[in-house]
Parts: sequence; structure tokens; C-alpha cells
Amino acid sequence: MNNNYTSTRDKNISISAKNAIKKGFADDGGLFVYPELSQLKIDINKLNNLNYQQIAEIVLEKLLPDFSIEEIKNSIDQAYSISFDTTDITPVVNVDNFHVLELFHGPTSAFKDVGLQMLPQLMKHVLDEDNKVMILTATSGDTGKAALEGFKNLEKMSITVFYPHNGVSKIQKLQMQTTNGENTEITAIEGNFDDAQSNVKKIFNDQELKKELGPKVSLSSANSINIGRLIPQVVYYFDSYMQLVKNGSINIGEKVNFTVPTGNFGDVLAGFYAKQMGLPVNKFVVASNENNVLTKFFQSGVYDRNMPFFQTVAPSMDIQISSNFERLLYYKSGEDTGYVKGLMDELESSGRYQVSDEVLASIKEDFFCGFSTDDEIEDSISEVYKKDNYLMDPHTAVGYKVMRDYQKTGDDTPMILLSTASPYKFVRVVAKSILDDVPEDDFEVMQKLNKVTNIAIPKNLANVWNLPILHDDVIEKDQMRDYVKSKVEEEFYDKD
Ligand SMILES: *Cc1c(COP(=O)(O)O)cnc(C)c1O
Repeated sequence: MNNNYTSTRDKNISISAKNAIKKGFADDGGLFVYPELSQLKIDINKLNNLNYQQIAEIVLEKLLPDFSIEEIKNSIDQAYSISFDTTDITPVVNVDNFHVLELFHGPTSAFKDVGLQMLPQLMKHVLDEDNKVMILTATSGDTGKAALEGFKNLEKMSITVFYPHNGVSKIQKLQMQTTNGENTEITAIEGNFDDAQSNVKKIFNDQELKKELGPKVSLSSANSINIGRLIPQVVYYFDSYMQLVKNGSINIGEKVNFTVPTGNFGDVLAGFYAKQMGLPVNKFVVASNENNVLTKFFQSGVYDRNMPFFQTVAPSMDIQISSNFERLLYYKSGEDTGYVKGLMDELESSGRYQVSDEVLASIKEDFFCGFSTDDEIEDSISEVYKKDNYLMDPHTAVGYKVMRDYQKTGDDTPMILLSTASPYKFVRVVAKSILDDVPEDDFEVMQKLNKVTNIAIPKNLANVWNLPILHDDVIEKDQMRDYVKSKVEEEFYDKD
């Protein structure tokens, strides 16, 4: 059996999982994918009574064939032993006639922790003896802090995060500015998220800078297209299924549905991986906010990013190009890399592409797609809180709305709704949905919400207000290159 990954755009590329993690994406611009996923079958009967870490071991062993079992065990141990606030890591809660899979119990209270606690641990086993890596991340809020917590204090690695000066919430900004750790660098830029993102891309392609940084230092990213972030997310699909078996909600072998609040399509694609590997899943319900490029695609087979961009109350899903969707096109076209490359070239040149009827039909066999407006998000938060006494964050509420739309089609397969953030992380819109009167100050909003609902505030969010500000740099967007260079010198040369 071929144990290597390939590119979505060129099947002649063959690369080990370790090198795929190191590189991030392929030289041809494609994403790394595992061909013939169905050869990696997991027998769910063998998962009975295993805990999260044990299930993770089985999943990671399959998908990371060139990692030794010791490397995998060590990575799981480091990623998931103390940094989550529950030993279940991703607990399932029963609500009304569905189940909520809570993915927000990590150190930053958003689901990105599941991938970003693991990626740095895997990277540790990929670096050569005298390699040093500077991770560069542009963030619109959630990814930056989750990446900082994952890479904090690891040897041979440092991380620099750029965020738009006036483009993140107060809590998100505080979370980043108060980050401790020996190897963490954070700066605001005078510009928006796109400026941060495009300048980081430029820096990655800056050959002159590479020379200036010296032969031992490389730049890398913690982007969600890295398989080192995707693969850890496959685990909670298996684990949540086994939790339902354990609590008697389903019989082993019975099918379930998953609803996934979606932005870059990474989270739900991990579910598709689990299904290919043998998890009994009927449908994945893909839920977008008003940036509903994907919903339109499901209606027409046309993917068109030339649409107005909306800033919504579920900002972590404000995305027009769902990068990981390319991976689904690869599998759904029968692993036809020429076909995928054609579509992606069209997307690049005209901002749109159209898939064949067969590909669209095949996608619809596994997926249903819909969207929620901002008003509907607030209505959902309020409805579920009043009726079921469960408090959802706005991203989860997007999923809830589309899940209810899907259930109207008559499918009553047991449903797991993925919850991607703590309600306290996006506290203002949550409070607005259930309280008559919302204080001006976010800290007071948190306390009031806690008083009214009795739901505990995650420690990291309760404490963030009292921590010292350690990072208050603000730079112009054209200073980012020099900033990286000076931080590499500080981190890797001056410290030695
Ligand atoms: C990133 C994020 C999402 C979207 O996940 P994708 O993998 O990009 O589809 C949803 N909710 C929250 C809170 C997020 O941070």
C-alpha cells in the first residue's frame, strides 16, 4: 500500500506525512490529501470503552503512517493531557432531540484548539536536529491565540502573530496581548485582516528574506490547510459517536448525522475523512452564515466568490473561499487531479467555477448545505436557551438553524451538532439574545451572563482581564517583513 500523501492538483506528487506537515501545501498550489482513504478502515467495535487519547492514537496511526507510535503517543500526551478543562476533551451534551459536541474546552475556548494543540507537537517530530522554525500567522481573532497557546515554549520553534489593529474583539485582543511564553511575538498592524494575510503570503515567498534569515531558520505557517491540523479533528467524530454508544443514545453500527458550522471547510472535511474510514454517517449538514457561497454552490453547482462580503456576528466563519473544499472536490471527482486543477485555475482567473452534474450529485449524497442570517442567529440562541436551558455561541447557533431546516426534510437520524466556541467568547451577541439590558463593558457583560445563567465562565476568559499586557506593538503593514526579521534575530540568534 502507498503510504504517502499527494497533491489535489497533481497525482504524481508523493510526499510523506511528515514532509507534508513541514511544507503545509504543495508547490503546485494544491493541498496535500491521502489517496484511497477507504483503505484506512477503522473497526468501530474496537473503540468500545476507549478514551479520547486512545481513540486519537488509533486514528493518528492510520493517517500518519511515518510517525512512530512513540511519537504519536508523545504528541497526544502533550496536546491533550492538561490543557483542556475536561478529561473528556470534547464532551457530548444531550439537548432536546439532538446532541451537542462541545469542542471549546481547550485553552482558548474555541474549537481551533483541538488542531492547534496537536500541530506543534507533530511538528516537533518533523524538524531536523539543527532546524529552527518561525511560525507566521495572520489572524482575524481565534486562530492567533489558539496558535500561540499551541506553540508556546516549544524548543526550536517561535511564533509571530499579526492581527488587524481595530479588527478583533476586545476579548480576542486581550487574549493575545496577555500571552506569556519565551517564544511568542504578537503585533497589531495598521490595516485589515486581508492586509495581514497577503503580507504574510508575500513574506513566505520572499527569497531575499530567506537568505537573510540564514540556512537554519525556516518560516512556516499554522494555516488550517495543514494536514497536521486537519487530522486531529478526525478524532472527535469517532469519539463523539462512541460517547453516544456509551450513553445508550445509539446502538453501535447505527448511522448518525453531524451538523457543522463551516468557514474554511476544515472541520466538516475531517468528518468526511472519518466517514471514509468507516464511521457510520448518513449526512453532514454544512452551515454557513450570510457569507453563503457554499449554499449557492449546492443549489447550482457554481462556486462563485464574486459576492458581497458580510461582517456577521459569527466572525470566525466570515469566509468567501473555503480552502479545504478543494480536498472534497478531489475525492468527489474520483481523485481526478487534472479536473481539480482546472477548476482551481478558473477560480483564480475568474473567481468562479462550475462542477459537473455527477460531481454535484455525489457531493449531495453526503452533504446538505444551508445558511443562517444574523437575526436568525440571535433567535436561535434565545430559543434554545429558553426552551432547553442550553446556551449556544453564535457560530453554534448558525449550525442549529440549518440543522432544524434539514430536519424538516424528514430525516430523523440521530443528530450531533458541533459547537465551536464557548458562549463567553462572543459574549456580547449572546447576551443581547437573552438579556433585556446589556452593559457597555464586555467584562461586565460576562459577569451578568454568568449571574443570570449560572454557566461557569471558562478560566482563561475570566482571568484575561487581570493579566499584564505583554505585547502592545503596533506597526504599519509595510513593516511586517522587517518585524519578522528582527524577531527571528531576537529569538534564534541573540538568545544563543
Ligand atoms: C474556525 C471556526 C469555525 C469554522 O471552521 P472551519 O474549519 O474553518 O470550517 C467555526 N466556528 C468557530 C468558532 C471557528 O473559530
